[in-house]
Amino acid sequence: MTVAWLGLGANLGDARQTLKDAVVCLAQQHTITVLAKSSLYRTAPIDAGGDDYYNCVVKLDTTLPVRHLLALCHRVESHFGRERPFRNAPRTLDLDILLYGDHVIEEPDLIVPHPRLIERAFALVPLIELDPDLIIPQHGRADAFLTAVADQRIEKVKPLCQCLAGLAAAEADTARGAAPDVAAGDSNGKMKRGGCR
Ligand code: AMP
Repeated sequence: MTVAWLGLGANLGDARQTLKDAVVCLAQQHTITVLAKSSLYRTAPIDAGGDDYYNCVVKLDTTLPVRHLLALCHRVESHFGRERPFRNAPRTLDLDILLYGDHVIEEPDLIVPHPRLIERAFALVPLIELDPDLIIPQHGRADAFLTAVADQRIEKVKPLCQCLAGLAAAEADTARGAAPDVAAGDSNGKMKRGGCR
């Protein structure tokens, strides 16, 4: 088993939902155990036009050799409608292998650690959220590179889980002495309809 870290990004279509679905898709692979998922971040496009990106990072345990993991990433990207009309084009889903254990790979079509990892807040910030002491092979502590990317816009997205929204609304109602909103959730925060997506 190898611990690997994948970066996920999207800025076409329902990007937030795509990232959530892609994490589920990864977790459904029998060769992968998802150990942790970062918060979702909204970030400015870098070296590219188009809308803001949504990004997150997942930490996983995998039995897949790194090339098989790359092939899986490409299959998942295709499944979510990824097209490559030109370099840095807007994308429905981008999956990058940021780290694969402590392996260092420098081949024409596969570079690990990912070559732009230390230059991109959208990769560094979620990585460090999951492991504040993370060491990047050949580079050292990940947090040492944060200063250099401090000018890149990145903001954590508040979770949109409707259960939590219902709970917050019910708690606010209770605090005000009002009757709880039955549609959003009862006084225990339980959903009356809908639910987490
Ligand atoms: P992108 O347009 O960002 O999806 O780039 C994909 C290309 O980058 C693929 O053809 C990969 O072979 C190559 N590549 C090189 N290193 C990596 C990596 N660490 N993770 C994912 N793709 C990589």
